[in-house]
This record gives sequence, C-alpha cells and structure tokens, in this order.
Amino acid sequence: MSARRRWKAAVRKVRELASIGRALVSTGHPYMAQIVPMRRCNLSCTYCNEYDDFSDPVPLDEMLRRIDHLGRLGTSVITISGGEPLLHPELDQIIARIRRTGAIAGMITNGYLLMPDRIQRLNRAGLDHMQISIDNVMPDAVSKKSLKVLDKKLQMLAEHAEFHVNINSVVGGGIANPDDARVVSERALGLGFSSTIGIIHDGGGQLKPLGDAERVVWDKVRNMTRRSYSRFNHFQEAIANGETNDWRCRAGGRYLYVCENGLVHYCSQQRGYPAVPLAEYTTADVKREFVTEKGCAPGCTISCVHQVSYIDHWRAPQSDSVTPGGSHKAGEPKTREQELVQIQ
Ligand code: SF4
Ligand code: SF4
Repeated sequence: MSARRRWKAAVRKVRELASIGRALVSTGHPYMAQIVPMRRCNLSCTYCNEYDDFSDPVPLDEMLRRIDHLGRLGTSVITISGGEPLLHPELDQIIARIRRTGAIAGMITNGYLLMPDRIQRLNRAGLDHMQISIDNVMPDAVSKKSLKVLDKKLQMLAEHAEFHVNINSVVGGGIANPDDARVVSERALGLGFSSTIGIIHDGGGQLKPLGDAERVVWDKVRNMTRRSYSRFNHFQEAIANGETNDWRCRAGGRYLYVCENGLVHYCSQQRGYPAVPLAEYTTADVKREFVTEKGCAPGCTISCVHQVSYIDHWRAPQSDSVTPGGSHKAGEPKTREQELVQIQ
C-alpha cells in the first residue's frame, strides 16, 4: 500500500473514531443517512425492489440542499445509494459536498461503470468508503453482479482507489451456488479489500434458517472475515438461524433513509414511515424517533440499521411504539446491497 493510501486510511480511522465518540456523548443527531440521488439502475437483479429503469437523476442543486440539511442535523456518515449512483452525472460534486459538511462519505454501487479515471475522480471528490455487492461467480438470470464480470473493476480499484473498499458476498435469495460467496470473499481479501457476507432471504416473507449448504459457506466466510463481524455476530447468527432479535431500532433517529423525492423514511424496507420531507426534519424528529419502538424490529434483517443502533444499545429504552405497515414488512426478503453495508 502506498504511503498516501496509508495516510488516508489513518486519517479516516481517526474521523470514524471521533464520530463514534460524538455519538456516545449525544443522542440528538443521526449517525448515518442513506440518500438516493437516482432510482434508475443499469441492472435488473430479480430480487431487487429498489430500482427502476426510467427515472432522471435528482438535480444537483436539490441534492446539495439535502446534503446540507443532513449536515445541519449533525449526520456523521452519509452513504449514497440508488438505483445506481454512478449513473448520476454530478456524483463527484455530491460527494465533495458531503465531505464539506464534515461527514464521512460512503457509496454503494454495482461497480459496472467504474473506470480508472472515474476512480480517480472519486478519490479527488473525497470518497471514504465504497461497497460493492457481488452475488455470484457467473452471471445468471437472478443477478449479473458477478465476479466474472466485475473482476477487472476490482483490479482497477485495487490499483487506483484511495478510499476503503468492501466487497459483500451473499447467500440465499435464489443465488444458485452458495459456494460462490466463498470464492468472492477470497478474491476480495486477496486484492486487499475487506469482505463481508450477508443473507438474502427468499420465499414467503419471513425469516427462515439457511439451508445446510448455505450454512457451511456462511461459517467459512465468517471465519475468513471474522474481524468485520466480531461485534455483530449475535444479530447475524440469529438471522442465519431464522430467529428473531431483541434490539432497539433507532431508525428515524440515528439512521435516516432519504429517497429520491427527498422524504425521510425509516429504512429502505419501511418506506412510508415517517415520510417527512427532509427539509422539514428537525432534531425534535430525530429525538422522537430515537425513543420510538419499531414493531418490525424482532424480524428485521437490515444489518446496517442494527449496527448503527448498536451504539445506543445500552441506553434509552424505547416507549412510544409504532408498527410500520408499509408495502414491505420487516422480515421480507432483504433485497439488495443497501441493507448489507457494513460499518468498518
Ligand atoms: S440490487 Fe443493485 S444492481 Fe441490482 S437492480 Fe437493485 S440497485 Fe440495481
Ligand atoms: S425494518 Fe428494521 S430497520 Fe426498518 S424500521 Fe423496521 S426494524 Fe427498523
């Protein structure tokens, strides 16, 4: 690793530790927000319910207003998702604006549009983290997020990226060959990236245990990537076993999902709650949602919200209860990489 990369990684780590320290001191600001600059995607994974093939990018000035408001709320980490964010023509300016608020800048992408000059532009914009989810080794009818297709992009990242890269592999969700997750994780680690594994549940909308073959791969990959999982083993393990979790979801408080229309939702799978325009979202909303119990929490498989909520697991019991009843109920198939993003 070059000295420049090492230096950037060290500075990033200090900023991350500072953000966690700030979160421990105060509960009145979001820790992480995911924001969608573009719903359109260049792929069409069959399990995904978070993309379309026609929508326009959110205009830059509107995106900048939204980023600034997240900054005013004190958001520590702002992650761009989609759709496919690399389709947004002014993505670099959006990332630079995130950094200007003082937040850590992340992005979740399918990686198809990465080229060396695009990676350099992301470096210059100040991107801190990138996550790519790779579903299989060979493309098939379910997903074309495949190692065979993306390996060249991974090599480009290994050569040019100054930001942290995490490769997420998955089991479940109609992925044909569970062992692909092991191959993907080995390749990611071999290129010097971090690697995580997530579960996509398929079938009738409830948590269900992994099958035998998936379980073997799950254990293998978790052993390979143990460091990334140490703190959240229990939550992940319960999901793998099809069991519920006892936890306090801080969505709407510590975690915000901002859709392309600029509305704040609990998470990608509970769109519609509270569905308040971001411009009108205040610290009072953050504080209210922080102590609001979510009825969908026990069967929830959304690990990024769980990880964010873990910061406050030891305090502030929740009282006011709400059971979101949007089109996607907790426990339904975890549909895409947004739910799998790991905080490193
Ligand atoms: S999972 Fe990602 S790459 Fe696949 S269709 Fe959805 S947004 Fe696009
Ligand atoms: S689905 Fe999960 S992350 Fe979303 S609001 Fe319910 S408990 Fe929270």
